[in-house]
Amino acid sequence: MGKARSQGNADVAIIGGGIIGIATAFRLAQAGRQVVLIERDAPANAASRGNAGAFAFPSILPLASPGILFKAPKWLFDPLGPLSIPPAEFPKVLPWLLRFFRASMPDRIEASTAAQAALNRLSETETATLTREAGLDHLVRHDGALELYESEAAWRASLKSWERCEKAGVEIEHVEGARLAELQPGLSPRLVKGVFLPQWKTVSDPRDYALALLEAARARGVKLVAGAVSHLAVSTEGVMVTLEGGQTLKAAHAVLAAGPWSSKLTALLGDKLPVTPERGYNTTLPPGSFDLKRQVIFPAHGFVVTPLATGIRVGGASELAGFDAPVNYKRARNMLDKAAGFLPGLKREGGTEWMGSRPSMPDSLPVIGRASSSPRILYAFGHGHLGLTQSAATARLITDLILERTPPIDISPFRPGRF
Ligand SMILES: Cc1cc2nc3c(=O)[nH]c(=O)nc-3n(C[C@H](O)[C@H](O)[C@H](O)COP(=O)(O)OP(=O)(O)OC[C@H]3O[C@@H](n4cnc5c(N)ncnc54)[C@H](O)[C@@H]3O)c2cc1C
Repeated sequence: MGKARSQGNADVAIIGGGIIGIATAFRLAQAGRQVVLIERDAPANAASRGNAGAFAFPSILPLASPGILFKAPKWLFDPLGPLSIPPAEFPKVLPWLLRFFRASMPDRIEASTAAQAALNRLSETETATLTREAGLDHLVRHDGALELYESEAAWRASLKSWERCEKAGVEIEHVEGARLAELQPGLSPRLVKGVFLPQWKTVSDPRDYALALLEAARARGVKLVAGAVSHLAVSTEGVMVTLEGGQTLKAAHAVLAAGPWSSKLTALLGDKLPVTPERGYNTTLPPGSFDLKRQVIFPAHGFVVTPLATGIRVGGASELAGFDAPVNYKRARNMLDKAAGFLPGLKREGGTEWMGSRPSMPDSLPVIGRASSSPRILYAFGHGHLGLTQSAATARLITDLILERTPPIDISPFRPGRF
């Protein structure tokens, strides 16, 4: 290794330039802190690039839930279904899966739903503040989303969940017939019922949104450093961050926001945290491939179709597999086939396929809190299906912790020490 070089000092070093790291950098810079954001790749090039672009504030029911225990076995027998585990990956995934099933038990679900609902409520207000302050309101669409059902029975089976959402303050409109056709013309007649969620929002494109937020952060003094963090060490003066190649950087605090890769660094700090890569796939068709009025969601099939400024994005699914497992784009094609059946006018040519890994925790709640070894190191990862949705709230909570302010919600459900 060559002679170590120092990149200088900062108040806060953030590791990971995905949407969580970027939003946190923006919020801390707004609060007057000197921030460096360290990213080993291009910023917002992992899951934060290709996701479905939803601020899914009404999505308060954790994925780990009693319902999934009934659906999962059937789904797992379909290799292209909404949830899959390639056989070779099963032994690696098993410990996470056992925790996931444990978190899905009725005795756990009330607490995790309350925590998710509180975080999503905060996310709604914090996102409005952040987009206003960053000048990004023009990138947010206020069109709501539409969940679609192929039978009266499937819709009936969903009613209990919707009642729980309504109790938590989620606005819901059950729709059919002319109202359904008004919300989204051109649907297959197989789709007989819908649920309209007016509080749901989408961004014009998740990568564009993240990069625009990064620009707003840089305009407030955030410095972007290219490099991969390999080590963190704490002393009485602060945190020493070491990059591959030997460069070092000193900061009063460090925030670990490295998505599904975060556990490699927490392990060095003595915290074994079960964040796993949960892959999703999609195809982005050229703009105009369908006259889509708002995001449409197919809960029985685990995918959504989103109108973005950059095209029509068809995707979702959940594949539990390690970083090195082969990529299976058949999954993206399978969802596109299904979407063409539900949206008969969809032009399916000219699409770009993509795969990305969600940073998923077995109890479907993110990790937001301090490392066990030092209050100077904060964790902000594990947002699973809701990283974009919860980015502004996470940024607010991490800023409150660093500034020693009392957070506006109880953050104990997100504590790293819960595992
Ligand atoms: C198909 C799909 C659809 C989705 N749809 C939605 C949606 O509609 N709404 C929603 O809210 N969420 C959605 N998500 C989830 C969302 O994309 C993620 O939760 C979110 O992007 C996670 O952001 P992050 O910043 O934590 O992680 P990432 O985006 O993974 O960023 C982490 C960054 O850390 C960097 N990094 C890692 N290790 C190091 C290191 N040692 N040194 C330096 N840098 C490092 C990586 O290069 C990466 O850029 C979806 C995900 C998928 C896959």
